[in-house]
Amino acid sequence: MQINDKQLEQVNTQIQRLLAADSFYGRRLREAGVTGVSSVEDFQKLPFSEKQDLREAYPLGLSAVPQEQIVRIHSSSGTTGTPVIIPYTKKDVEDWAIQFERCYEYAGITPEDRIQITPGYGLWTAGIGFQAGAERLGAMAIPMGPGNTQKQLQFMIDMESTVLTATASYALLLAEEIEKRGIKDKIKLKKLITGSERSGEKIRKRIIDALGVEYYDIYGLTEVYGPGIGINCAHTHGMHVWSDYVFLEIIDPKSGEVLPDGEWGEIVLTTLVKEGAPLIRFRTHDLSRIIPGDCACGHNEHPRIDTITGRSDDMMKIHGVNVFPAQIEEILASFPELSSEYQIRLSHLDGRDTMRIYVETNGSVDWEDLRKRVASRVRHRIGFTPLVKIVELGVLPRSEKKTRRVFDERYDD
Ligand code: ZN
Repeated sequence: MQINDKQLEQVNTQIQRLLAADSFYGRRLREAGVTGVSSVEDFQKLPFSEKQDLREAYPLGLSAVPQEQIVRIHSSSGTTGTPVIIPYTKKDVEDWAIQFERCYEYAGITPEDRIQITPGYGLWTAGIGFQAGAERLGAMAIPMGPGNTQKQLQFMIDMESTVLTATASYALLLAEEIEKRGIKDKIKLKKLITGSERSGEKIRKRIIDALGVEYYDIYGLTEVYGPGIGINCAHTHGMHVWSDYVFLEIIDPKSGEVLPDGEWGEIVLTTLVKEGAPLIRFRTHDLSRIIPGDCACGHNEHPRIDTITGRSDDMMKIHGVNVFPAQIEEILASFPELSSEYQIRLSHLDGRDTMRIYVETNGSVDWEDLRKRVASRVRHRIGFTPLVKIVELGVLPRSEKKTRRVFDERYDD
């Protein structure tokens, strides 16, 4: 999907704003000789921005408006290093809430609904975004924040929550807990909205079966408002991304070349109306594709991205083969006797790279036979033989936030 005239004009305004503010990113554009864009070709020549660039602007170097217009900051948590600080104006905060409200509407949520919000509040953009959208819509927000599963379940029953918002990991944990306690008939949930981590088909199905809910995936990242810049409609697993707020591109992560609709690559986003911290061609490292063609819901002005299959920086290289966790997950999902949890550990043993895959099953199958079958299927599909370790159901860690499933221990001392 090419950038249209209106979007091009909006990008131009964003560039002028950045240049005039002489902010960190404005200076970057000036150094690159950018003065504006008037065509698709101009746009595609604009330099990409990266999270690492934004870190260098710490603390408030990204701000493109006078300080008194900043009403809030958020911060994206890196696992290491300097955080990225994103300043928001009053309009940015409102625009984000409008987009979030639209997400709820696409999911068929109304003022009648009661939305239990389990993502975290604070510097992170999650909880407060879910909250602002709910209030704007007129639904009842139940601002739980993460953790305290006992209380979550009690409120879910007593407040008669109809919508759960959670990471897929936490939704799975709650679903398993509800099954374990045999309280499903007391739960009124109709819909689940998850975001912030990729979840495979098997995990998704497991949650849907256990909770009896419709499943919605929300998209977004702190650098570009936060969650809520897109969601799937009732007709597709793909997520519509709001084309009046962000322009979407898919690029080849290696060459940076823009890919045609339908091809898999990295999502790149350009904000169209942001004031506090406009971003031009921001590389998200999320891997997806634009789903070609029309959606049955008719909202074709908002292009759809497919389910995120991973991150371009998650790619593992082993015995010269590029492997994504999603490929392993897909293979594991083809074994009905395995649970939906797994763990991948890469290590360097006796001069060789080794992949160990931990999977869970119960006592009713032949573990040795299963171990061999899993290893053999990985060898056939990907091209190397992993060490498969089978453990008892429930042994692998479940998390209230994002469950870490890949550990690269090759470079540890
Ligand atoms: Zn649709």
